Amino acid sequence: MTEEKKKKVVALLSGGLDSQLAIKMMQEQGFDVSAVAIKTPFCDFDCGRGCGFEIRERADDLDVNLKTVYLGDEYIEMLKKPKHGIGAGFNPCIDCRSMMFDAAKKHMEDIGAEFIISGEVLGQRPMSQHAPALRTIEKESDLVGKIVRPLSAALLPETIPEKDGLIKRENLGIIEGRTRRNQLDMAKKYGIENPPNAGGGCLLTEPQFGIKAKDLFEHKKNPTINDIDLLKIGRHFRLDEETKFVVGRNKDENEMIKAIALPDDILLEAKDFVGPVSILRGANLKKHLEFASSVTLRYSDAPNDKTAIVSIKQSDSVKEIITETAKEESYIQFRM
Ligand code: SF4
Repeated sequence: MTEEKKKKVVALLSGGLDSQLAIKMMQEQGFDVSAVAIKTPFCDFDCGRGCGFEIRERADDLDVNLKTVYLGDEYIEMLKKPKHGIGAGFNPCIDCRSMMFDAAKKHMEDIGAEFIISGEVLGQRPMSQHAPALRTIEKESDLVGKIVRPLSAALLPETIPEKDGLIKRENLGIIEGRTRRNQLDMAKKYGIENPPNAGGGCLLTEPQFGIKAKDLFEHKKNPTINDIDLLKIGRHFRLDEETKFVVGRNKDENEMIKAIALPDDILLEAKDFVGPVSILRGANLKKHLEFASSVTLRYSDAPNDKTAIVSIKQSDSVKEIITETAKEESYIQFRM
């Protein structure tokens, strides 16, 4: 195809290797690829967790335009009751992918692209990449026949672009399953250096995070982004149906807890010893204040057998409590 006659396609770009390969395959076949990257409160690809999600750099390397779409409140709304359930963590993959494809569809219509591609590989992920799930995702986003998964497409039903002669089956992949050997070979062929590791940066797939996220959604009718940011740090304790307590694990987390605190929250800190910043959030703060103070002391350098002062801050008011260090058996039952 000559430059001006290039047909446009939209790619969902995750930053992982598979979506990069899908883009390379389509570029090789003469398409002008535009990428859409989706941020959610659970994966912002800037979290520094080493999953290689430096989307902007990836897009530049691939020489594609990049549109970033943030799914915030609507994503939380979906997570309250995912139509297609959750996976092994708290991951609503089918509903999540449907929302991502919705966003890609909008971009496809906006720029007059022919179809959408993604790096999904048949059978690679248990919840969202088996054939019926791929089909469900297409139906949910009203894109039946309009999504091409170049890496596996020769194993999948014929799509509309194939029927229309825009792509040919012999140029499509037959990759299936979890091994990455084929993808690494392709990365070499396309000159993709330092291909990112498999496995994404989605917190919802992590079992420990999943427990905390599930607890939040079970106990709060309308969780906020702020609640979700708090899930990402600290040791979490469920004190009662309406109250939770989080203890910072290091200096960075202590700073983040201070930044996340809302006017009604209570911040606790050992006054005379190095230790965590803790946060009490919920309806029954007074009831748990003494307990939270003693646990805060327990995680500080305060000696176990003596009383010490904990400073308590709520909005602009600051007071002090003298208490003893908690015994582990008194709080471990509340730990998530
Ligand atoms: S792993 Fe996370 S980001 Fe990926 S589809 Fe599942 S819920 Fe969405």
